[in-house]
Amino acid sequence: MSNSISLTALSKSYQINKTLFHAVDRVNLTIKKGDFVSIIGKSGSGKSTLLNLMSGIDQPTSGQVIVNDVDISQMESSLLDAWRGHNIGLVFQFFQLIPTLTVLENILLAMDFCKVIPAKDRVNRARSLLDKVGIIDKADQFPSILSGGEKQRVAIARALANDPPIILADEPTGNLDSVTAKAIFDLFTELNAQGKTIILVSHDSDCHKYSNQTIDISDGKIRSNIKSVEVTHCA
Ligand code: ADP
Ligand code: MG
Repeated sequence: MSNSISLTALSKSYQINKTLFHAVDRVNLTIKKGDFVSIIGKSGSGKSTLLNLMSGIDQPTSGQVIVNDVDISQMESSLLDAWRGHNIGLVFQFFQLIPTLTVLENILLAMDFCKVIPAKDRVNRARSLLDKVGIIDKADQFPSILSGGEKQRVAIARALANDPPIILADEPTGNLDSVTAKAIFDLFTELNAQGKTIILVSHDSDCHKYSNQTIDISDGKIRSNIKSVEVTHCA
């Protein structure tokens, strides 16, 4: 397969009063299948906007986003939701679990929405994903009784629900203590070793230890793009 994600002259601008503000400013970037990319930068530097452009949550003002040979910047919004369900798993800082559903039901909902996994296989698959992220014993609990780290494990299992090739995570450890954060980084490392492309936004400059491409962004521009030879798997 060709490159996983290719961004060309990608910009997202907002008209603020009479000035044009560039949240993402002419970004060119290639992320290959199987890469583990960290995006670091100060608050307001454009990290979330960049991630939201890659998932099609945001539409670019100009430029292109090509994901697995599909130009999503040209895609109709009605098709984008289905496309995202098949291709991208999303993980957020504040987990965004549905409080009235159990842990298992949160995973099932993602599968029911997308319909990639046959209905008869969904419960078994949800349970095996919860097992994979180390939280199968909480399957029938409601999210409110879980710790932050446990909630993020559920959110990662949900992101994997439809077996997407790409996981985008926006500050997934931003609300976790350092020990729990390391466990979550290790989980992403494991998923990357199993072939998932991981793109992780973080305030935590430690995240570069886990990735094979670290992108430093400020004022919507890539300032440096540090590549190492291969992914470092931290024990
Ligand atoms: P980060 O995730 O790095 O903190 P964001 O991508 O959320 O940064 O935001 C980048 C910049 O774009 C910020 O200055 C933010 O205020 C601005 N921005 C984001 N969304 C909007 C919007 N809908 N309207 C106007 N400005 C926005
Ligand atoms: Mg952000």
